[in-house]
Amino acid sequence: MEERVIEHIAKATKTLFSFELLPPLKGQDFESIQKAIDPLIEFNPSFINITYHQEEVVYENLSNGLIKKHTVRKRPGTVGIAAAIKYRYGVNVVPHIICGGFTREETENALIDLQFLGINDVLAVRGDPQVGMKKFIPEPEGNQHAVELVEQISNLNKGIYLDEELLNTRSMNFCIGVAGYPEKHGESPNIDSDIHFLKKKIQAGAHYIVTQMFYDNKKYFDFVDRCRAEGITVPIIPGLKPITIMDQIVSIPKTFNVDIPARLVKEMLKCKNNMEVRELGVEWAIQQSKELIERNVPVLHFYTMGRSDNIRKIAKAVF
Ligand code: FAD
Repeated sequence: MEERVIEHIAKATKTLFSFELLPPLKGQDFESIQKAIDPLIEFNPSFINITYHQEEVVYENLSNGLIKKHTVRKRPGTVGIAAAIKYRYGVNVVPHIICGGFTREETENALIDLQFLGINDVLAVRGDPQVGMKKFIPEPEGNQHAVELVEQISNLNKGIYLDEELLNTRSMNFCIGVAGYPEKHGESPNIDSDIHFLKKKIQAGAHYIVTQMFYDNKKYFDFVDRCRAEGITVPIIPGLKPITIMDQIVSIPKTFNVDIPARLVKEMLKCKNNMEVRELGVEWAIQQSKELIERNVPVLHFYTMGRSDNIRKIAKAVF
């Protein structure tokens, strides 16, 4: 049987390499994503994650002074692009499945499609509030928190579908990853509460955790210690997103509730342009990666944001 993320980790004798991609923007083709994948293939990624992007609310000013509300999905195609990558490159793919915008039935149908496509890995996340909205609002028949999504996928792994009268069902075989936040999730009142709910995702059947980005490895090591103390025993994969532009000095803390250490801020402020910031981001991530590898983390997972020249330099230096 094909190996899923959890089997890759169980078999590994050293830290593995993986990365995350965004599906192409609407109007772009598969080639646009190949440009990000090709430079990383020689480092033998154990899996490639593909993010899911919900519809955004957009307001259009009409000539009569009224405002019209639209919804647009700028990056459709997570399932299709995941399957295309899997079969063109022969690499495990991990499409992200989110609660936002999906009824439970639509989620079930998406999982059925994945199963037919031979994709047995997913990352189950809630999704952020829609762009332009302050609060996350689930669909009326949708999952409210990632834990409910994990429960739904775990039920399918036992052959339990939403229609309880369905007989002689096939069990699915999904390996389920979930998100964890070394510096706590932005909506969480404190880290203990966040880890309490993280544990519920594991108890519901998640097999491993991928972390939000961090720029100080101590935050990750402390988080792992706290999780272990709470009885969370699954692999905790560190996620790294190298700094690429000066604006991130403000946008990363604001958007992701992630600190940028004083030493990194000081170095960023010395940079004359974004090219220098990008180089600094590579250097910083190499140092982080080397220490994480020394501490035997299961996988180094990189957020590419669709461009991989920086990730290639890091991978070349550490793998
Ligand atoms: P949850 O686990 O539901 O947690 C959300 C908040 O609610 C937390 O504060 C938690 O402490 C709290 N909470 C959890 N369960 C309960 C409960 N039962 N009762 C009360 N409170 C609870 N977003 C996308 O839109 N698409 C993606 O592809 C995507 N990929 C991601 C990948 C990774 C590795 C990470 C770290 C994040 C990703 N995100 C993605 C962002 C993610 O959707 C947001 O961070 C979202 O705000 C929270 O998702 P979650 O799965 O952690 O939610």
